[in-house]
Amino acid sequence: MSSLQAQIEERGERIFDLVDRHPESIFSKAGFYQRMMALSMRDEHFKVQMFRFVDVLASLRRSGDIVQHLGEYFADMRDGFAPVVHTGVRLARIVPWLSSMVLRRNVSGMARQFIAGKNPDDVMKTLRKRRQQNIGFTVDLLGEAVVSEKEADAYTARCSELLEHLARETRGWTDPVGKNRELFPVVNLSVKISALYSQMNPADPAGAIAHLSPKLRPILRRARELGAFINFDMESYAHKNTTLELFKILCTETEFNNWPHAGIVIQAYLRDAEADLRDLIEWGRARGTRFTVRLVKGAYWDYEKIKSRQNGWDCPVYLQKPESDVNFEALTRVLLENESIVTAAFGSHNVRSIAHAQALAEELGIDRSRFEFQFLYGMAGPVKRALVEMGYRVREYCPVGELLPGMSYLVRRLLENTSNEGFLRAKFSEHVSAAQLLRDPNELVNGKLWPGSPTPATTPNRKRDGYAPEDGASLAAPHDDIYENSPLVNFVYKESQEQMQAALRDVRNRFGRKFPLVINGEKIWTDKLTPSVNPSAPNEIVGYAAEAGIPEAERAVKAARDAFGKWSRTSFEERAQLLERAAAILDRRRYELSALEVFEVGKPWAEADGDIREAIDFCHFYAHQMRLIGRPRLTQQVPGEESYQHYWPRGVGLVIAPWNFPMAILCGMVSAALVTGNTVIMKPSEQSLNIGAMLMEIFEEAGVPPGVLNFLNGRGSVIGAHLVDHKDVDLIAFTGSREVGLGIWESAGKTREGQRELKHVICEMGGKNAMIVDSDADLDEAIVDSIYSAFGYQGQKCSALSRLIVLEGNYDRVMERLLNAAASLRVGNPEAPGIMVGPVIDEAAYRRILEYIDIGKSEATLAYQAKDLPPQGFFIPPTIFTGVKPDMRIAREEIFGPVLSVLKVRDLDEAIEVANGTDYALTGGFFSRSPANIERVKAQLEAGNVYINRSCTGAIVGRHPFGGFKMSGGGTKAGGADYLLQFLLPHVVTENIMRHGFAPEETPQYRDEFLWPPR
Ligand SMILES: Cc1cc2nc3c(=O)[nH]c(=O)nc-3n(C[C@H](O)[C@H](O)[C@H](O)COP(=O)(O)OP(=O)(O)OC[C@H]3O[C@@H](n4cnc5c(N)ncnc54)[C@H](O)[C@@H]3O)c2cc1C
Repeated sequence: MSSLQAQIEERGERIFDLVDRHPESIFSKAGFYQRMMALSMRDEHFKVQMFRFVDVLASLRRSGDIVQHLGEYFADMRDGFAPVVHTGVRLARIVPWLSSMVLRRNVSGMARQFIAGKNPDDVMKTLRKRRQQNIGFTVDLLGEAVVSEKEADAYTARCSELLEHLARETRGWTDPVGKNRELFPVVNLSVKISALYSQMNPADPAGAIAHLSPKLRPILRRARELGAFINFDMESYAHKNTTLELFKILCTETEFNNWPHAGIVIQAYLRDAEADLRDLIEWGRARGTRFTVRLVKGAYWDYEKIKSRQNGWDCPVYLQKPESDVNFEALTRVLLENESIVTAAFGSHNVRSIAHAQALAEELGIDRSRFEFQFLYGMAGPVKRALVEMGYRVREYCPVGELLPGMSYLVRRLLENTSNEGFLRAKFSEHVSAAQLLRDPNELVNGKLWPGSPTPATTPNRKRDGYAPEDGASLAAPHDDIYENSPLVNFVYKESQEQMQAALRDVRNRFGRKFPLVINGEKIWTDKLTPSVNPSAPNEIVGYAAEAGIPEAERAVKAARDAFGKWSRTSFEERAQLLERAAAILDRRRYELSALEVFEVGKPWAEADGDIREAIDFCHFYAHQMRLIGRPRLTQQVPGEESYQHYWPRGVGLVIAPWNFPMAILCGMVSAALVTGNTVIMKPSEQSLNIGAMLMEIFEEAGVPPGVLNFLNGRGSVIGAHLVDHKDVDLIAFTGSREVGLGIWESAGKTREGQRELKHVICEMGGKNAMIVDSDADLDEAIVDSIYSAFGYQGQKCSALSRLIVLEGNYDRVMERLLNAAASLRVGNPEAPGIMVGPVIDEAAYRRILEYIDIGKSEATLAYQAKDLPPQGFFIPPTIFTGVKPDMRIAREEIFGPVLSVLKVRDLDEAIEVANGTDYALTGGFFSRSPANIERVKAQLEAGNVYINRSCTGAIVGRHPFGGFKMSGGGTKAGGADYLLQFLLPHVVTENIMRHGFAPEETPQYRDEFLWPPR
């Protein structure tokens, strides 16, 4: 055993000895909280329901609501819980007011375990008690998620007041250790950076820093005058780089350059924590003034893992608990070895991590008064006491705030206390031995964890674009059977931001390019060029494309018809590989294509990237789907006969796409048509013809044969109409407006002279999408997601929210937060990162939307309209109307711009009736924490895509097959398992295989593709 390990064990055992003299009361058996924790640790389902109930409780005002939720959350308890819980719920129903009072009191009691005070006065009582115990403090203000600048300003003001209050009330207090007291001011305030600015966007750290600095400077200045300390807390990974940068920039300003009392957090669960810490130390040395680092493992482990998996990102956190422990120790060493410039604050409840820091400090000859240990209020009390007894400096992190804003904090603490892998549960609930708890975490990586803990996570297994699930579930499936979404670009990384900036410069330098038509593989110029304009700066022409007339349309049909024979008999595997090659090129040119979208259709960065990602996904997904359905499949196992169903392509397909998802929708329809063996004439929108031309280029590079895909830019009213009616066009895939869609539907229904096939129309049209906000909804989420759904990409997504239906019980609070959130949006030219609302597509749209705003003003109440808009460009101010009634035009007609109508309703019955009372059924949403109401909405909301407790835009290929019904479309689902069938004709071949009464025993489930000549 190394001498360091021996030292760690010695110190650890000493701590445990002291701890065992005062066992941890929160893990003992008495009391409501203790019982809840014990039950939660026994049953995962109970734990989930229990934490969800706690989460909603504070927002419920009436006793009846509390009892109703209680019943809904605990009605389906299983196992041994059922009788106890059911009796409790029954009793609660008999006397609702009494039971809700008791529940509230108990849950408030739980919250009080972790929240040090309701307000600054209240917290002083706690701080005074701790002073008696020689424990210092850092105070943190709890708050709801900040969704507007008004809320951010209020938080900033509360921080300043708290600072003054603490300084005033602790006048005369001294450091409990005494030695090296100048490093550790008594007054210590922890600041949550995201609460100071509501529009933080990872792509735009400079923008965030520009907004945050003026709010933080007065706080830092005042702290300096008062001799206080300010800590920058660390939150999710998305904000990490901005927070680090902000800290360095502010602390390097002349005013603060020699001020040593600022600190920041490093999270050891992050894979890049060491690089960040070393960078900070280098910065600190150059600055020449001490600063502090609070080293923690990190509070957002589950969130980071889920978020990265959802977006296909490399997971920023370690996946094995001992890896975080090992890293914590490695970073402890980095901190202590650089003690001359950085003061360490170890934020851990884990006795092994603590003992390691102590032993290492001793080994390096660092006096125990030169660093400190920090703990959360209400956690690991006996460990705190033990360290004080051992002569270490201990500081407690004391959250201040009311119950409602404190709920998310409370739930985080409950999770931490009940975590299978956490130290506190292992020590105080599972009573794992000291020897086990003090083991070197290096020995536990890839090995065994605490006794009774679940199977350890495997080492991350790098796959195409992320990590394989550690439960191993999907690893069992053969690789070819796995469809994975391509990752989004993560703009949190500086390299991603720089690549996007470079792409924007390059694309701008190539403005004015001209693109030909492509027919039968030939580049064709006509005497007309269609310009495509930058909607943010209409005097800029992004590029041109040759404009087709009827003669070119005829040539394209002929080319496609001629190419069909061979392409339809090309194996599906070859066709699938074409799509995969196109996907690889899209991926290679990703930034360039996104940049082009920023200019051509006014998409903000992340929206543009999402569009390219979706195009890549369509290619992979349809290639994958084609492989699943491509082989003839036995219809039934029956002796003496074999009958196989397989698919033939329909013929010549016409693809007419919109400009709002200029790459994704165009590429989706084209790739589906191609992979199924149809030949294609693609007509992009006139407003996004550069993107259309790019897609043609990409498919040409991928090797699409001449005539199989033809690029035809031109006017919808001229060539579009001509081709729809053409006898040689068999299939029309259209996405766009209701007016044009219905025209196509009707026209395609007429059979023309010489027509071979009944034309098949795949028709996706608009929506008048509604989101219902229930009276118990979590407004932190409902507001952010409603604002994003309504105003993201200027409301120009067919899925965009345009009717917000709010139950009256919650109406005033929703509106207050919603209007302030809308007023905080960043509107401007999306070339700049961090812009959420850019221009609408063109002048016609601009005028039409303004007309609707005028209609809205005459019908309803204008509750909000943005004011500061760029002087040029087609910018429409985000606009919100209230007092809207279901029969008003702004509540019925699709506006396709940043205009939101708010409808107030009595109850959920009325909400559903209003939501369903339109011609459309595309997307719909519901925010609620009532399990029963959620079930009801799932069953009754009329929309092709229903989203619960999230935004109603942003469908992901394969995950959210997308498309609506009623006047929103023909019921097809792009990105869904049955989409390709729309492009195919089913064909069945039946063969009698009996000869003189003899037949094979069994017939294979699948056959090779029927191709002639066979390959
Ligand atoms: C005073 C104080 C201030 C804090 N401030 C912040 C802050 O600003 N920002 C912040 O993010 N956190 C902060 N934390 C940390 C956080 O809230 C948790 O308390 C801390 O991560 C728990 O670690 P531990 O060493 O006490 O317990 P342990 O039980 O040893 O470790 C639990 C931690 O391990 C990590 N973990 C759990 N499972 C896995 C896994 N499968 N793979 C890899 N890692 C895993 C997680 O970080 C988890 O929190 C703070 C903690 C304290 C005490």
